[in-house]
Amino acid sequence: MDNEPNLISDEISLRKEVERINAEKSEKRLRLILDNSFNMIALCDLGGNIIYCNDSYREVLGFSPETLIKSNIFTLFHPDEREKAKEDIFIQLLNEGKGQMESRFITKEGYYKFLDHRFRLVDENDTGRDTIVISSQDISEKKRSEMILTVQRNLAYSVITSRSFLEFYKTIIRELNSIMEVNNIYVAFYNEKRGVFRLAGISDERDEIDEWPAEGSLTGLVMEYGKPVIFYKDDVLRMHDEGKVELIGTTAEVWLGAPVKSGDKTIGAIVIQNYDSPDAFTKSDLEIIEIIANEITIFLEMKSAEEASQKLNIAVIQSPASVLITDADGNIEFVNPKFSRVTGYEIGEILGKNPNILNSGMQPKELYKEMWDTISSGREWRGELQNRKKNGEFYWEDISISPIFNESGVIVNYVGVKEDITDRKKLIGDLITAKEKAEESDRLKTAFLQNISHEIRTPMNSILGFIELLQEPDTSGEERQEYIGIIEKSGHRMLGTINDIINISKIEAGIMSVQINTIELASVVNEVTGMFRPEAEKKGMHIQSELPELNDKTTIESDYEKVFAIFTNLVKNAIKYSNHGTITVGYVSHPNSVECFVKDTGIGISKEIQSAIFERFTRAEVHSRRSVEGAGLGLSIVKGYLQLLGGSIYLQSEPGEGSKFTFELPKVLK
Ligand code: ADP
Repeated sequence: MDNEPNLISDEISLRKEVERINAEKSEKRLRLILDNSFNMIALCDLGGNIIYCNDSYREVLGFSPETLIKSNIFTLFHPDEREKAKEDIFIQLLNEGKGQMESRFITKEGYYKFLDHRFRLVDENDTGRDTIVISSQDISEKKRSEMILTVQRNLAYSVITSRSFLEFYKTIIRELNSIMEVNNIYVAFYNEKRGVFRLAGISDERDEIDEWPAEGSLTGLVMEYGKPVIFYKDDVLRMHDEGKVELIGTTAEVWLGAPVKSGDKTIGAIVIQNYDSPDAFTKSDLEIIEIIANEITIFLEMKSAEEASQKLNIAVIQSPASVLITDADGNIEFVNPKFSRVTGYEIGEILGKNPNILNSGMQPKELYKEMWDTISSGREWRGELQNRKKNGEFYWEDISISPIFNESGVIVNYVGVKEDITDRKKLIGDLITAKEKAEESDRLKTAFLQNISHEIRTPMNSILGFIELLQEPDTSGEERQEYIGIIEKSGHRMLGTINDIINISKIEAGIMSVQINTIELASVVNEVTGMFRPEAEKKGMHIQSELPELNDKTTIESDYEKVFAIFTNLVKNAIKYSNHGTITVGYVSHPNSVECFVKDTGIGISKEIQSAIFERFTRAEVHSRRSVEGAGLGLSIVKGYLQLLGGSIYLQSEPGEGSKFTFELPKVLK
């Protein structure tokens, strides 16, 4: 039965054979297609064992399909991603029967490439063993551009946020390590004067050298070329043999450097090295290192601009001058603390206001117009203004206002720098007064010397003249008596002048002493009027005392000599500067003081010189004819004494009507 031809089974096997041939044909076709695909295509069992892979695996990873078949596809995954990838793939296959993911695959050289995988479950009905088809594409270049973009973005951010170069440098290291295998990174700046490089930041697994000469170093070559360079160990050793470079520290397998520039000038370099493999960096990494070098330049320029503006800021804030900045319309945008200290306006309350808030109204409107015309036409205005503080006080300022232009030459701001010159102005004012005073005093001294010489010469001449006459043999006894009388009077006049000079000098020198006595005022007044009565009567005048009451007993505690001298000086003047009428000497008593007076009906004193006559050497111009004796010291002595005795003096007088000198003294001098 077994050997009997079985038509049905024959037919079946024939059909199977046809199917097998067809399948073989289509598999061949399929293989042809797969082998010529750009994508990497692999067929694996559910455990990941590779049943088939196409030739693209060789092209992309360097492994031949023969070596890969039977090995597990998961061994190609980056160890960090392996487990996660397994899980991901199975979950997606379970849910959808297909899926997609990105991962890194190792290359034959030991580096990793980024791949985009698409996979699908293939149902093998006849065998019952399911397989997975994985189609992968090399996306390393795309990934790399993405990473470069990320690095660039992160560095740009760090340029703004880093406070120090070290902080910025840490970002550089982090970013570089995220995209390449780097053993050593350093940034060095060139010191032109000394011809050396100095490390600004380093992260090295082996060496750390602080400073080295630029000449003969690889970094020096980067400077020289002015563009990024890559050196392999062989290049370096060859250059060393040729005597072009020195070997500093460990020689790297691959060395990559880029110049850090400022404008056209190279000021330093950034270098990365790998000690393990020459394949760690490729020429395309030059682009990355150049980007980083540029970011360093931007960082340095920004920092130096920041520092400069910070310095300016501090200078303005701490400036001893007031600084005020307005917009083009004159609205205040900024004032420094000194401005607030001077004016009393805090920054908050003055922002947006117009500087005319300080206007004191002391300057004419035209001045402000001239100022605005000057600055709005782009020129600087300088001047002095009297302004008003918040508390209403006036002050003087030396002001310079300058316009500030934008790039298009349009005025955008005005800056005012102001110095408070109130004290300086006052000082100048005081100096002018002092100078005038000195000139005046000079003039007075000349007048005084003339007076003095007149006051000494006149009596001296008369003394000498009459002594001569006395010597004449035929001078009668009567005449002799008369001459001796004149000589005596002249001697007294001279003594008086000399005493005055001595007294005024003592007052001036502050060595005039005060002796306190109990003084009965009525007796002083009576003594003075009695003493001068003959002189007054000789001029046909009357002299009288005027007491509060007949037997007034008012006493004061003061210096007798000086009080007496004050009265005599005033009475002497009253007689001197009157030709008729009555001289009244008296006082009025108050609880704590006495008010003494000497009144005459003489020539009087014009208003203009009333205050000046108490100054030493001053005499009314009328006497320049020297009709009246006097050195101009009497009233200054009076004033000096009154100051010592805690008193004061004032004068009421009308020319032609007479004068009344009133002085007040405390009853008890403390
Ligand atoms: P002297 O009398 O020596 O000139 P004084 O200092 O005593 O100096 O007086 C200063 C000036 O004041 C006098 O030169 C005179 O012009 C004026 N004077 C003082 N007393 C009187 C007075 N009673 N009447 C008018 N003028 C007076």
